[in-house]
Amino acid sequence: MSADPPRIVVLRLGHRPARDRRVTTHVCLTARAFGAERAIVSTKDGGLERTVDKVVAKFGGGFAVETGVSWRKVVNDWRGAVVHLTMYGETLEDALPRIPRDEVLVIVGAQKVPGEVFNLADFNVAVGNQPHSEVAALAVFLDRFLEGDGLRRPFAGNVVIVPSRRGKTVRTRA
Ligand code: SAM
Repeated sequence: MSADPPRIVVLRLGHRPARDRRVTTHVCLTARAFGAERAIVSTKDGGLERTVDKVVAKFGGGFAVETGVSWRKVVNDWRGAVVHLTMYGETLEDALPRIPRDEVLVIVGAQKVPGEVFNLADFNVAVGNQPHSEVAALAVFLDRFLEGDGLRRPFAGNVVIVPSRRGKTVRTRA
């Protein structure tokens, strides 16, 4: 992978705070851990923002989450490629070589995704053509797209987990 990693933003559509907060939190944390720089959630949810911000404050990195943003504006203003993850899309293997590696907006749904998203996206990509989860789809897409580099990035947080074969080793910065 080149010296300049792609700039990746994840857009979560259709988030319902009462119902989806746990899964949307996982979407954001997966985005962060696997190499995205930001998540945008179309519905306002202060609780979600606080939860993600706490993880970032503790474990580091520059990840940010913004909620209550018009998804149409985000998509229309986006200058790079728009990738919509959907089980109805073309296969990941077919799409990957054609997705430009500079700026990518990755869209995942919660409830039914508006039909126009399929036309606005440059790529409708399936991570297997079976229904599963936005968290799984995002993790596999980012890992394949970044060829593992997303997971290898350092985060330099106040809390650093030291890999260990057994038990938990954690270093805390003074
Ligand atoms: N029932 C919703 C619909 O009909 O659009 C989809 C719900 S699904 C749990 C939520 C999101 O997971 C989808 O919008 C899509 O982004 C993602 N997803 C689920 N399975 C996928 C797959 N096989 N490939 C890519 N994305 C997938």
